[in-house]
Amino acid sequence: MSFPPSQHRVEEVPLLTDRLGTRRSLTVHRFGTPGARPKVYIQAALHADETPGLLVAHHLIRRLRSATVSGEIIVVPMANPTGIAQIVEGVHVGRYALDGSGNFNRHFPDLIAGAAERLVGRIGPDPQANIQAVRAALRATFEALPAPDSEVAALRHTLMGMAFDADIVLDLHCDQESVPHLYAGDPLWPELADLAALLGVKAVLLSPDAGGKPFDEACSVPWWTLAARFAADGPIPAACVSTTIELRGKADVDDAQADADAQAILGALIRRGIVAGTPPDLPPPQCEATPLTGLARVVSPVSGVIAFHRAVGDRVEAGDLIADIVDPTAADPDQARTPLRTPGGGIIMARNNLRFVSRGELVASIAGPEPLNSGHSLLFD
Ligand SMILES: [Zn+2]
Repeated sequence: MSFPPSQHRVEEVPLLTDRLGTRRSLTVHRFGTPGARPKVYIQAALHADETPGLLVAHHLIRRLRSATVSGEIIVVPMANPTGIAQIVEGVHVGRYALDGSGNFNRHFPDLIAGAAERLVGRIGPDPQANIQAVRAALRATFEALPAPDSEVAALRHTLMGMAFDADIVLDLHCDQESVPHLYAGDPLWPELADLAALLGVKAVLLSPDAGGKPFDEACSVPWWTLAARFAADGPIPAACVSTTIELRGKADVDDAQADADAQAILGALIRRGIVAGTPPDLPPPQCEATPLTGLARVVSPVSGVIAFHRAVGDRVEAGDLIADIVDPTAADPDQARTPLRTPGGGIIMARNNLRFVSRGELVASIAGPEPLNSGHSLLFD
């Protein structure tokens, strides 16, 4: 395998904006050979208030500048300039668009139906030829999409346009308070097991299609959906290995940890021959993959102060007490507490980072092996 010298190019990609006097752009770092395969796409902070990925992207870029790349690696270190600017009374609002466009990580373009139409009669026995045909059909579908009609739609369109035909897509997020974890499609496991081990993730949540069109699934789900549709014609591999990486909690922003995470990602790319170097030894996995349907959500039926009894990373059984919700206004302090128990066992993957909740608000999530919530929309806004 030949490794051409890495080239580092930095582009400013202008973005559509909705308001006079506003200009935004995406900074895009490209390494390797334009158009070469494999193509890797990595972005951070699509949820703009999720800071750990920004620092991981910094270390990735720093290390890639001196690496030798076979193929092309695209890093968008700050994927959401619209969201990064959303400060309301001193609070960063980065998950939802203030213009009413919803969760920044939902509603990415759906290329499946358009690609399926274009693939009729074009799938045969050769899986590599089928990959080429699917990529061409996805591209033709993407290029035929109507022009985006808002700033947020245009941002989604621009990000998707760099990623939908990639071999590997890594979307760097974080949770509120959390152990590191991954979301991915069932067909991508155990392909992602090395990355999971290198990152030391403590939960891997698998789903065939969680719904809502988040970025990672908008890139990956077309592959196995089209594979099922054309199963009688020939094999279509899952040729876009796409995952959402949750880099712990919002406050877990640490230079040494971020560099270790960047090196874990580079290690996975070295193992695939995309970055030159000695493949790292794989540490023992910290978890088994579990179904997204096994995610137990502890939701508070009342408003009040969260008094947690368990920490992120703790192992719990169904029925264990996770927290009390305390109503300090109760006439009788002995009646002030509402105990919250987990409906399923597993590892406490994430906790709310606030300590006062509304009625109906999520308090903690527990990743476990037993399906609990199948039949419901799996991805929660
Ligand atoms: Zn996120």
